[in-house]
Amino acid sequence: MDWLLTPGPVRLHPKALEALSRPQLHHRTAPAREVFLKARALLKAAFRTEGEVLILTGSGTLAMEALVKNLFAPGERVLVPVYGKFSERFYEIALEAGLEAHRLDYPYGQVPSPADVAREGYAGLLLVHSETSTGALVDLPALSRAFKEANPDALVGADMVTSLLVWEVALEAYGVDAALSGSQKGLMCPPGLGFVALSPRALERLKPRGYYLDLSRELRAQREGESAWTPAINLVGAVAAVLEEVLPRLEAHLSLKAWQNGLLYEVGEGFGLRPVPEVRSPAVAAFYLPEGIAYARVKEAFAQRGAVIAGGQGPLKGKIFRLSLMGAYDRYEALGVAALFREVLSEILPAS
Ligand SMILES: *Cc1c(COP(=O)(O)O)cnc(C)c1O
Repeated sequence: MDWLLTPGPVRLHPKALEALSRPQLHHRTAPAREVFLKARALLKAAFRTEGEVLILTGSGTLAMEALVKNLFAPGERVLVPVYGKFSERFYEIALEAGLEAHRLDYPYGQVPSPADVAREGYAGLLLVHSETSTGALVDLPALSRAFKEANPDALVGADMVTSLLVWEVALEAYGVDAALSGSQKGLMCPPGLGFVALSPRALERLKPRGYYLDLSRELRAQREGESAWTPAINLVGAVAAVLEEVLPRLEAHLSLKAWQNGLLYEVGEGFGLRPVPEVRSPAVAAFYLPEGIAYARVKEAFAQRGAVIAGGQGPLKGKIFRLSLMGAYDRYEALGVAALFREVLSEILPAS
């Protein structure tokens, strides 16, 4: 079995594995409703919102699309800073949803500043909190605040796929109206679920559309512990089990993730590698490939040691490599991975 050092899917939490070994529940029965309501309540606490969280069957991208289409009507003007592959995806989804999307481009690895988004005349702002493709983290509260000072009636939507359970997140306290995430990253569960968190303000202003994506229909069903269509209830059980374990000791978990990612940067930088992000997210460590070394070489050196890593996306394809300990890794395992990373770098870098 491979060690997943990829920023999703990630190594599963033991509580997820345990939950997934239970017999199938029928989703329209009391035990399933109990699991569903428990998962929703725990997700609400994890997102830190007084609103509600909807559980959708599909990957994180489905949740991105659901958020965009239920928050904004066609023709509305939204601002989308693009600083990586996922913020690029937000922009593409906004266009496909018929919005008048304005993009602000940044070189991959850099992040928007509050002054950049303080522009009037918008109904919304779409931001990716942790840009997994570059390893960058944006200052979500500062960006939301600056944008809302210029657009008091507007709504802010945030992708928290690799910040939920990895870094501090919040909706209302951050000035974020709606956020989304997925099961296979910080939540340490298998892929297959997307989550949309809606603040009280977003709940009042929903503009539902779509059929499977209609969030008002989901709200009605999910308040009763069901979903409109057959949910991946086994995964919902895994998410509830992991959150039940991690949330009571969230602070320790977040410091562990930050320390582990810092350790990866320490090793890489110790060998002279150049980090990609301007501001580092604890979800992933991204490095430019050393001069004259192809990505395939690094990937192969890790593969020989039974580990899977990730390369670059978009304009960074073939230029960077990425390692992540966002999954269920403890301190001991992280130190082992750091040692393995040193071994790889000693092997591939020319002796100086
Ligand atoms: C993984 C990820 C997504 C969702 O990708 P899916 O493959 O659809 O689950 C969205 N945003 C970010 C920042 C991600 O890392």
